[in-house]
Amino acid sequence: MTNENKPARVRFAPSPTGRLHLGGARTALYDYLIAKKTGGQFILRIEDTDRTRYVPTAEQEIIDGLHWLGIQWDEGPDIGGPYGPYRQTERKEIYQKVAEQLVDMGAAYYCFCTPERLEDMRKKQTENNEFPHYDGHCRDIPLEEAKRRVAAGEPHVVRLKVPHEGTTVVHDMLRGDISIDNSQLEDAIILKTDGWALYHLAAMVDDHMMGITHVIRSSEWLPSLPLHHMIYQALGWDEPEWVHLSVLLSPSGKGKLSKRESEELLKQGYAVFLTDFEELGYIPEAVTNWIAQMGASFDGENDFFTMDDLVEKFSFEHLNPAPAAMNFQKLDHFNGAHIRALSREDLAQRLLPFFLKAGINTDYDGVYKVVPCIQERMVKLTDGPEVARFMFEEDIPPVMDQLMQKKLEISDCVKIAERAYEVISGLDDFTAAGMEQPLRDMVGELGYKPGQVFGLLRGAISGQKVTPPLFDCMEVIGKEKVLQRVADAAAFLKENQ
Ligand code: GLU
Repeated sequence: MTNENKPARVRFAPSPTGRLHLGGARTALYDYLIAKKTGGQFILRIEDTDRTRYVPTAEQEIIDGLHWLGIQWDEGPDIGGPYGPYRQTERKEIYQKVAEQLVDMGAAYYCFCTPERLEDMRKKQTENNEFPHYDGHCRDIPLEEAKRRVAAGEPHVVRLKVPHEGTTVVHDMLRGDISIDNSQLEDAIILKTDGWALYHLAAMVDDHMMGITHVIRSSEWLPSLPLHHMIYQALGWDEPEWVHLSVLLSPSGKGKLSKRESEELLKQGYAVFLTDFEELGYIPEAVTNWIAQMGASFDGENDFFTMDDLVEKFSFEHLNPAPAAMNFQKLDHFNGAHIRALSREDLAQRLLPFFLKAGINTDYDGVYKVVPCIQERMVKLTDGPEVARFMFEEDIPPVMDQLMQKKLEISDCVKIAERAYEVISGLDDFTAAGMEQPLRDMVGELGYKPGQVFGLLRGAISGQKVTPPLFDCMEVIGKEKVLQRVADAAAFLKENQ
């Protein structure tokens, strides 16, 4: 295990080919946590050399998504830094130079095989039940000759010359020593015909030149780890620590999340792309808390963590390489818990856009007023307007079913509503605390059960059977509106007697 007190230089290196997935967000979070914990630096590097899969909006979405989570980098394409540029398309010549160096050292070679020859080779290999692999046709072309052909403009790629015998052993911080039989490896392309470096070369060159100490990345890169190790070895560079994270599985735990499953998840109000969570009513504190613990356990007792807690607790020792299923119920649990931990002001601020979007005509002060009634009752911010809507309505149309109480006749209900109207009219102190005793005395005086009397009042005031605490809601709605609703209910009950 490396010394986690030494400042770490880590990078998140997404390819801007699509949307930022939870798995990518988790990688970036771990980068951020170890950098913060050790007083090191976190770098954002955009790996945009694959122009065929390039999505112009992707880089901004990555930046926005990470900022939303509360993750900030010390160096990156948007803010610069001493090791830039931080977009690989701006580093083309650097990779070409290293490729040439590898060729000159005999660790790589120019390959002139045409697509037709490669196609033919693969066909034959498949017919012979061989695993398709490059057959080394250009591996032994003398360097002088190869250089002449390159200078003459013959189309070529650069391939890494990997040993085909023996084994390669590379150490991963979570998985220990990984041993690979070299006969399984092929002479991978590191520079394409158009002069662009492939990941194998570009990422290694950048990690080295940017002084990266820990490469934290998805385990899909494990099969190419030996190639990466060989590039470092050939160039005589110090290798970073390798950390291949656990695979994230679908909620059922059966394989990766399929497209169909993710569509199904969206229907249930869940998501897999980071920027969707905000709109669904999740707060970044909860998403951070949740993804940090996908395939990790930081504390046996407790799992509610703020970003500061996570920085303090983070250690590679807590990461588990076994595949981890995404558990969206856990996310709901964290979201409710983090919502409850927000200040009244903060929650009001965050709720306001959801209230407006739900068509409730209010402002910050209006939401601020209802926060104490609803804060304990929300899983997502989208629940806020639903739980609180009745407090903002002009009036509540009486509904018989909500007003009638168990074991009571309509005439009893009329009596309760009329008496409640009188008692409420006489209240001077219309706070929840101030109205409680007079209303409880009224129950005693009427001789009905509290559940019957308050049930009716709740129905009259909210039009629903379940609400936040009744007196709190009444205080927020205000005396005048409450009286109007009780009067409407009394009149309605009377008409239907
Ligand atoms: N550009 C690579 C990807 O998006 C980065 C992998 C790495 O972190 O090295 O998969």
